[in-house]
Amino acid sequence: MATVAPQIQPFTARQFEKPEKFLDFCENNGRPLAGIIGGRDVMGSMNVTYDTTDPGSLEVLASVCEMGQAEVGLAVDEAQAAFASWGKTSVEERCKLVMKLVELCERDRDVFLACEIFDGGKVSELAEGDFTQIRACAEYFCDVAKKAEMGEGPAMQVAAGMKGFTYREPWGVVAGIIPWNYPVVLNSWFIFPALLAGNCVLLKPAEDTPLSALYTGKLAEEAGFPPGVFNVLPGRGEITGQFIAEHPGVRYISFTGSPGVGQAIMRTCDAHGTRMKREMGGNGAAIVLGDADPGVVARQIGRYTNQHFGQTCCTVHRIFVDQKIADDFADAQRDFFENLQIGYQADAGTQLGAVVNSTQYSRIQRAQQETLARGGQAVLPGGVAEVADRTGYYLKPALFRTEPGVDCNPLEVFHTYATICPVSSEEQAVVLANSSPYGLGASVWTRDTERGVQIAKQFRDGTCQVNCHNSIAYGLPYGGQGISGGPGGGVNCEETFYDYTQVKAVYVGDYPE
Ligand code: NDP
Repeated sequence: MATVAPQIQPFTARQFEKPEKFLDFCENNGRPLAGIIGGRDVMGSMNVTYDTTDPGSLEVLASVCEMGQAEVGLAVDEAQAAFASWGKTSVEERCKLVMKLVELCERDRDVFLACEIFDGGKVSELAEGDFTQIRACAEYFCDVAKKAEMGEGPAMQVAAGMKGFTYREPWGVVAGIIPWNYPVVLNSWFIFPALLAGNCVLLKPAEDTPLSALYTGKLAEEAGFPPGVFNVLPGRGEITGQFIAEHPGVRYISFTGSPGVGQAIMRTCDAHGTRMKREMGGNGAAIVLGDADPGVVARQIGRYTNQHFGQTCCTVHRIFVDQKIADDFADAQRDFFENLQIGYQADAGTQLGAVVNSTQYSRIQRAQQETLARGGQAVLPGGVAEVADRTGYYLKPALFRTEPGVDCNPLEVFHTYATICPVSSEEQAVVLANSSPYGLGASVWTRDTERGVQIAKQFRDGTCQVNCHNSIAYGLPYGGQGISGGPGGGVNCEETFYDYTQVKAVYVGDYPE
């Protein structure tokens, strides 16, 4: 029997109006928002601008200049020049500037919330949580940076008359290529470890959500970062992003996005030796054991599945449930999905808003239809949703039942979408959960946490969870296995800081007599 758990609620919007400061920033005295290179506003030699819009109303928020090959080259030159002194600053000095930037972000909290809510289409409850990550991330990496061992390591005698030691230093110029779904969080995850390690950064926001990166660039100037240390390059992936990947002066790229794009950039970078880290999509699994309360767990999983309307890389889309409780679980999951309040993301009470753009809008509808064509049985078929007085990319949640051996959910579907598959044993559930090429996050739900830990350890995922999902904590690596990540061991841990450094071996022989 399922128990109702009313305290487990979907992420929900409060009413949110655009603050004056956000409107002024977007208006920019009638000029498009420029890239920020070497401390200057740069309009771009291609003379190309594009509009960034609110996905829930299709209102144009701002016009943005696209950076081309010349601007990427200029940004690398400026960053290299700035690195000559920035690379030599003390950790204390870098921490001071980073924390000054955090204070300015907090002063303008409402502007960042507006960026997430209107540019990114997020509900306030989630946007507010995301905003707290600016300080949390900066403080964590300041601590790591203060303890990090940079420069010369201990010397060792490697041969008669010869010693050797390691020498660790920042790369110099590093780039972050960021997706649209969590801009404030992912900008922070890139800029703070990269800057604190002593690098100069090129930040390339997603075409759909450039506003928070551009605003952060302005605040970085106000905080006192020297020109060229913090550059922001808005534009399309296949233009601006591609030129960044092709530039050999960029020594390291931190990419977050889809596996296909990450694989392509990796090939480009490899041709000229730029190192790269990739955090990519997922198709998360949850296993629900027979001792779990189907009603409670269905609501909790539903909250995660619907986090940012399913546009969350690590969330749950494939659910494997003990067959004894599968019917109760499916009923409870349907109730949760069906009762989500679909609406405009800045209106009070909204729980499921519009998806980010027209491409996603079509892709999700296609995926819902393909699930049926591949043998999934619709509990809720999805499809287009109408929201009174709004034009936007609104879709209904989708829920399907399936059975072992029916491969109806092979790809990441970036929406409130899940398949429920009854299983006859834990072993079968683990095999099915691990059958995906993705490997970002998976969870197991049970009252027997010891049993849960044994199962969680068997997941082929970067994040293995018991009675929780979408879990991220500073100090533990957040990364993917399979096509979801690599190389390297994830973000948000000590190793992440060292990713933004290179280590050399230095040999010193006695002068030959
Ligand atoms: P994309 O892979 O389409 O884009 C990611 C970034 O790469 C964007 O800035 C994009 O620019 C840029 N880009 C696109 N093509 C190129 C290219 N040829 N060269 C260089 N840069 C390029 O991902 P989405 O923005 O659609 O984001 C959603 C994806 O991100 C999902 O798969 C999601 O799971 C994943 N993700 C993974 C996370 C993780 O930590 N593992 C966290 C968050 C999201 P543009 O926007 O202009 O196309």
